[in-house]
Amino acid sequence: MNAMLEHPFKEWGLPETERPLVIAGPCSAESEEQVLETAKQLKNYGINLFRAGIWKPRTRPNSFEGVGSIGLEWLKLVQQETGMKVSTEVANVKHVYEALRMGVDIIWIGARTSANPFAMQELADALKGVDIPVFVKNPVNPDVDLWIGAIERIQGAGISKVGAIHRGFSTFDKTRYRNTPQWQLPIELRRRMSEIPLICDPSHIGGRRDILLEISQKAMDLNYDGLIIESHINPDKAWSDAKQQITPDALKKLLNSLILRTVSSPDSLLSNNLEDLRHEIDKYDSNILQIIDDRMKVVEKIGEYKKANNITIFQPDRWQQILTKILEKAQKHNLSDEFIIQIFKAIHQESINKQTKIMNE
Ligand code: PEP
Ligand code: MN
Repeated sequence: MNAMLEHPFKEWGLPETERPLVIAGPCSAESEEQVLETAKQLKNYGINLFRAGIWKPRTRPNSFEGVGSIGLEWLKLVQQETGMKVSTEVANVKHVYEALRMGVDIIWIGARTSANPFAMQELADALKGVDIPVFVKNPVNPDVDLWIGAIERIQGAGISKVGAIHRGFSTFDKTRYRNTPQWQLPIELRRRMSEIPLICDPSHIGGRRDILLEISQKAMDLNYDGLIIESHINPDKAWSDAKQQITPDALKKLLNSLILRTVSSPDSLLSNNLEDLRHEIDKYDSNILQIIDDRMKVVEKIGEYKKANNITIFQPDRWQQILTKILEKAQKHNLSDEFIIQIFKAIHQESINKQTKIMNE
């Protein structure tokens, strides 16, 4: 086994040791046969962690809201007949008690629940003293602090095996995703909570089969630790999330197509080379900072002049000129307009802030 591909779940007592950790199973448990047959096929393909929703948070009433507690008996059968570990979503204290009583191995907290600090605190209190892995999905709204807060509440209950699931964020606009990934948010979570394993849920991000591979690959390239993917023996007939579920066979093909890259190169020559290149990047970054600092000093001088002569700070014509000139130059350097506009808008804004401060002194 390649040591580089080990995931951080080693101490979690899970049967898998290689990256990516994969949790798979239907969006919802529908019947004993559907649950068992899906689990058996997945197990045959080497999947050891099973998922199935029993209590389903649905956006609108009068749609299928899950089979309820009876589904826990089917999960028990999955454990007994396949040896897989089983997981389900909990959203309230009653769910926690029932799932724990039936010996569910892993639980996850859904996106609608993690958006609610009261609900999170109640779940955390109910979980005190429990030693199973708990995964916290990102809240439906793109708020990293809310996600971190939800994780902290679970950690605060003394749970040591806490992971995060990135399942994308709701938007009003229709996009190609069901929930836009906004990759910068999980990246920020990673930066601030580097000890928390992060897995990706391409099914709820994508909402459709044809982009599951692309999203999963992106997650692997961003060094996620695992994937949770919805799989159903008859996806088109699924009672919930039919469009995004895939057969166990299709799941296996997807996993086989993933290219797993490592963070650091096992080849020391290559990694020395990488080190050199990184040094170069660091050098350029500090040059960029120095140049911005020099520019701001000139901006401040202009600010003093504007103040002394009663001239407005914002000069739309001048700003337009700067932008036009810089965009012309950028084209020769093969830099996209979008990128250049973003950078120069930010620089311009900071210049205005500096001059405003001088004006008000
Ligand atoms: C699910 O995993 O089936 C689910 C309901 O997910 P989410 O909370 O991400 O919508
Ligand atoms: Mn689902």
